[in-house]
Amino acid sequence: MNSEKIDVLVIGAGIAGLLAAHELTNQHGLRVAILDKSRGVGGRMATRRDGEAAYDHGAQFFTVRNPRFKQWVDRWLEQGLIKLWFDQLADEAPLMRYAAMPSMTAIAKQLAVGLELHRESQVVSAQRADGEWTLVTKSGATYQAPKLLINAPVPQAMEIIDAGGIQLATADEQFLRSIHYAKCIVAMVELNRPSGLPAPGRIKFDDQEPISWMGDNQQKGVSMRPAITIHSGPAFAEKYFDAPDDVRLPLLVAAAKPWLKAEILSVKGHRWKFAHRLTEHDRDFFGDPPLGLWMAGDSFNAPRVEGAAMSGLLAADAIAATI
Ligand SMILES: Cc1cc2nc3c(=O)[nH]c(=O)nc-3n(C[C@H](O)[C@H](O)[C@H](O)COP(=O)(O)OP(=O)(O)OC[C@H]3O[C@@H](n4cnc5c(N)ncnc54)[C@H](O)[C@@H]3O)c2cc1C
Repeated sequence: MNSEKIDVLVIGAGIAGLLAAHELTNQHGLRVAILDKSRGVGGRMATRRDGEAAYDHGAQFFTVRNPRFKQWVDRWLEQGLIKLWFDQLADEAPLMRYAAMPSMTAIAKQLAVGLELHRESQVVSAQRADGEWTLVTKSGATYQAPKLLINAPVPQAMEIIDAGGIQLATADEQFLRSIHYAKCIVAMVELNRPSGLPAPGRIKFDDQEPISWMGDNQQKGVSMRPAITIHSGPAFAEKYFDAPDDVRLPLLVAAAKPWLKAEILSVKGHRWKFAHRLTEHDRDFFGDPPLGLWMAGDSFNAPRVEGAAMSGLLAADAIAATI
């Protein structure tokens, strides 16, 4: 498919890409097309459904520190799109923790309305010639525009750039290749009755291994059926990332069992290769205006939902300033 007259191509329909596309379209009047490899939207703000059971299996909640992001959060609260899940708990710093309703993908679904979005479009290379980017997808479709914003985690973004033979300045190249992520393995467990996890339905494990988090999707309002999400710690995920589910999932379930007051009906797994950014730095996004290339997402700003959102918004400002 050839897409014509697009000003900015955006790779990734996670929170960063969607907010950037929203700003570029609605605040700056630019023509934008988003490509995402998945069927759904939201990226790591993800929900898996399995009959009447449903699981937030990526981000569990988000926090707000920046006034610009707070404006979005206030609007989502007014619209009934999100709720305050919890703030004051004995074992965590007092901070408003918001969750989307009915599940974490709700924000992305709303942001995507009215935007040109090409789902199941995995970009395999980005080539540059005569001031234009040409994106090539796995199915062979091509999209062209003078400007490109990539919101995939930077190691994935660099694969796209490398495949297109793009040469970045040495210092940029060194910075971008220094950005690394921790992995996470997820067990999604359906139960025969309520989990028994204490209100508001989560346990955070400070020692992180083998489990870093357990969330009760029924108490949170995500799932009709008793269903919990178990997140592994980074060391467990590194060790078992390529192990079969029937090896790694029982280990996570065994570690969770002492906290459960229910029998297990089924267990499903998911792997996040780029779960949490490890590398610390102070950049909000990457931009090479002469090349027409920007990168945003949680590889920049802060390594969480709000950081990804801010990175996308700030990259959109920077792109608009070049037009
Ligand atoms: C298990 C887990 C728990 C977390 N918990 C929390 C939490 O509680 N609170 C919090 O604030 N943060 C949490 N995070 C982090 C948070 O989810 C991320 O920081 C945030 O969602 C990142 O948004 P993003 O838009 O930068 O990237 P993503 O959401 O990853 O979006 C990137 C998008 O790019 C697409 N993409 C990638 N490559 C290609 C390609 N080649 N072609 C086309 N599309 C492509 C992907 O499909 C994806 O939709 C968690 C993350 C994980 C994995």
